[in-house]
Amino acid sequence: MKTKKIVLPDSELPRQWYNIVADMPNKPLPLLHPGTKQPVTKELMNRIFVEELVNQEMSTERWIDIPEPVQDVYKIWRCTPMARATQLEKALDLPAGIKIYFKNESVSPAGSHKPNSAVAQAYYASKQGLHRMTTETGGGQWGSAMAMAAEMFGLDLRVYMVKVSFNQKPYRKMMMNTWGADVFASPSDTTEVGRAMLAANPDDGGTLGGAISEAVELVMKNEDARYCLGSVLNHVILHQTIIGEEAMRQMEMVGDYPDVVIGCFGGGSNFGGIAFPFLRENLAGRRKTRLIAAEPTCCPKLTRGEFQYDHGDSAGLTPLIPMFTLGHAFHPADIHAGGLRYHGAGSTVSQLLKDGLFEAVDIEQVESLAAGVLFAKTEGIIPAPESTHAIYAAICEARAAQEAGESRTIVFNLSGHGMIDLYAYEQYLSGALKNYVLTDAEIAKTVSVLEKLI
Ligand SMILES: *Cc1c(COP(=O)(O)O)cnc(C)c1O
Repeated sequence: MKTKKIVLPDSELPRQWYNIVADMPNKPLPLLHPGTKQPVTKELMNRIFVEELVNQEMSTERWIDIPEPVQDVYKIWRCTPMARATQLEKALDLPAGIKIYFKNESVSPAGSHKPNSAVAQAYYASKQGLHRMTTETGGGQWGSAMAMAAEMFGLDLRVYMVKVSFNQKPYRKMMMNTWGADVFASPSDTTEVGRAMLAANPDDGGTLGGAISEAVELVMKNEDARYCLGSVLNHVILHQTIIGEEAMRQMEMVGDYPDVVIGCFGGGSNFGGIAFPFLRENLAGRRKTRLIAAEPTCCPKLTRGEFQYDHGDSAGLTPLIPMFTLGHAFHPADIHAGGLRYHGAGSTVSQLLKDGLFEAVDIEQVESLAAGVLFAKTEGIIPAPESTHAIYAAICEARAAQEAGESRTIVFNLSGHGMIDLYAYEQYLSGALKNYVLTDAEIAKTVSVLEKLI
């Protein structure tokens, strides 16, 4: 019998992360200070973030060594399996030339790709002698990854969790508590930003942008604390390239190479993580792989947003990031893919999209969940609602190849499992899940107020 799983031996695990900035034809524009609108200084960044992460954020080195203590923790679940989705292919009745593979990041202890960066961030924080970290979490995936990593490296962690998710996903909170983190629903009454949000609307369900504001405010008021972010920034995407580096070696093992690589898109870290190593091969002229980011229709910054300088948070506390954005005041519908409810995208992914080096598609919640159910029924794994967007995009690619009578090798990143997001499936199965229509006027409301800086 053929083995289905493709796994690298420990001796062949990647020992370096890949920094796409080194190979970008147009480098990302600098982050700007929210007050002076001048490029941010390292001093300001160091006040908010861990120093080594700021160095990585600004680095143009192509390869960055993965520290040994980080590699040791990675070995708990890495290499993550790559598998051919043969049962899904069969259910779709695809011809032999159309193949679907998936890289399975759901096998990490926290259930998603997020620990790849959380472990690195916690390691560098402890190396700097820090004891206190704050962060935010949308769907709860980043918070739980960071809670695990913080505990492993002896750090205290406070997590601001978007209120809709806090209420929908009590088990996420319990995971974080089990790993020793303190969790607050955002907006909370523990910060000025949170109190202002509650005063404006006591029923505010919160946004990622708002939760970031609360976590950053706490850091600005506590000299010994630092803030960490689970996506968007270059250093986070850098850490996630372990996914694509492994994936490339795994495809090599079976003598295959993808024509298409797909990741769902929140802030860009799992997409960049799987796609950037393949993009390197494209940029070097060796390959022509299409790279596709799949975002939700209700939060379409890549397909309908504008390339502008904008804040990473809703209150305007973070540096201005050159990004595809819907505006920092944009309030996405309360869809179940909480990790994709973010108004903007990272500066590298944004520049790369502007330069036409990858594609973006938007996908409706009901269709993506339906694809998730099909995947569960065929491949056995119940995917995270976020990941179902990548599955749906992969199915569309397979169908398009079939209609065109072409062969196609498709790889998608299964960014996480949905065992703690079953509420989304309950809603889908009972027929209560709905799609949201977002008008151009709604988008214009939050985009048009952005200062035209470029
Ligand atoms: C956070 C999350 C995402 C989206 O975030 P990115 O930074 O775009 O990767 C996607 N899938 C899962 C399972 C997540 O937890």
